[in-house]
Amino acid sequence: MSTETFLARLQDELQALDAAGLTKAERVIASPQGAEVRLADGRPLINLCANNYLGLSAHPRVMAAAQAAIASHGFGLSSVRFICGTQDIHKQLEQRIARFLGLDDAILYAAAFDANGGLFEPLLGEQDAIVSDALNHASIIDGIRLCKAQRYRYRHDDMSDLAAQLQVARAAGAREVMVFTDGVFSMDGTIARLDEMRAICDRHGALLAIDECHATGFMGTTGRGTHEHRGLLVDGRSSVDIITGTFGKALGGASGGFTAGPKAVIELLRQRSRPYLFSNTLAPAIVGASLAVLDLLEGSTALRDTLHANTAHFRAAIAAAGYEIKPGTHPIVPIMVYDAVKAQQLAARLLELGVYVTGFFYPVVPQGQARVRVQVSAAHTVDQLDRAVAAFAQAGRELGIVR
Ligand SMILES: *Cc1c(COP(=O)(O)O)cnc(C)c1O
Repeated sequence: MSTETFLARLQDELQALDAAGLTKAERVIASPQGAEVRLADGRPLINLCANNYLGLSAHPRVMAAAQAAIASHGFGLSSVRFICGTQDIHKQLEQRIARFLGLDDAILYAAAFDANGGLFEPLLGEQDAIVSDALNHASIIDGIRLCKAQRYRYRHDDMSDLAAQLQVARAAGAREVMVFTDGVFSMDGTIARLDEMRAICDRHGALLAIDECHATGFMGTTGRGTHEHRGLLVDGRSSVDIITGTFGKALGGASGGFTAGPKAVIELLRQRSRPYLFSNTLAPAIVGASLAVLDLLEGSTALRDTLHANTAHFRAAIAAAGYEIKPGTHPIVPIMVYDAVKAQQLAARLLELGVYVTGFFYPVVPQGQARVRVQVSAAHTVDQLDRAVAAFAQAGRELGIVR
């Protein structure tokens, strides 16, 4: 094989993607992230597709904290954690996020993708088993692949299949069993039934671990996450055993991930987790800003409350406009179009009308389940949400999606 034939094959693959309409184009934004963004051509758009749930991505207090951390702790550390990449603020953030979630300790990663990628292999071996929801995030699937434990998959959100798979794992003689689920599933806004899952895990002596990327900061009455929402955070103590999550969504949206759990779990991850041992430490600006985010959220539930009020408003208004949405309460609002081409046309027309949304279709969602996914933010004003719904109504009528 020559470089030429190699590159020709890649070109063929790219063309095949394009021909199938699967190429993902990147739109260029020339403003900070926010309820409204400005494109490179100067056009303003109401933004309904960021993970900026709490509106913290360009929040003045968060940006000021990032700048202060650069001034006091520098720009970068040029080291992994265990050589010379651990500052006082890294230790503080680990303690603070652990306390926020109701667990003993936490470990930081460059991303939640790495937290999930480095979770399973150090903790579980061939004698153990992992029981995973069929729709778990790609990073969980990859993390499980890197681990020698026996793998079992239960049908998405299906509690009787979960129990059945646990029985199979136990019958096969598993030493330890870990059940893993997304706390909230990103394509549907489905909230895992952690209370039922905890009871099933207890019956089978299994650990329960969750990925809280679409929950930390705003689910539950004080925003601690899905475990709080489902009643598994009592007197500030989590009865979910292990929680992974991100600083790259609601908590400021820059980057960084974490795993929180019992002391021994976190200590072993520090010794053995490969993305932690072999990748650079989190930049001080992100650490300082993340501490400020936790100050904000521990001081007031105002942002979380606004987010849920905005979500209820948008869900009611878009349904009244004639759209079919997946029922629920999460700020992820899947607007069902079913047809992939229609979903893309709807997103394209909305862009012309000044509303930024993304269409999702196979293979990101099942065949025939194409949708436009809206994500509501605390930063949206009711007026922005109403204008977006009016645009949805107009575009939907033009395309024959709604009457
Ligand atoms: C976004 C996401 C991740 C990855 O988070 P990063 O910090 O961006 O790597 C992992 N799991 C789930 C469920 C996510 O939604």
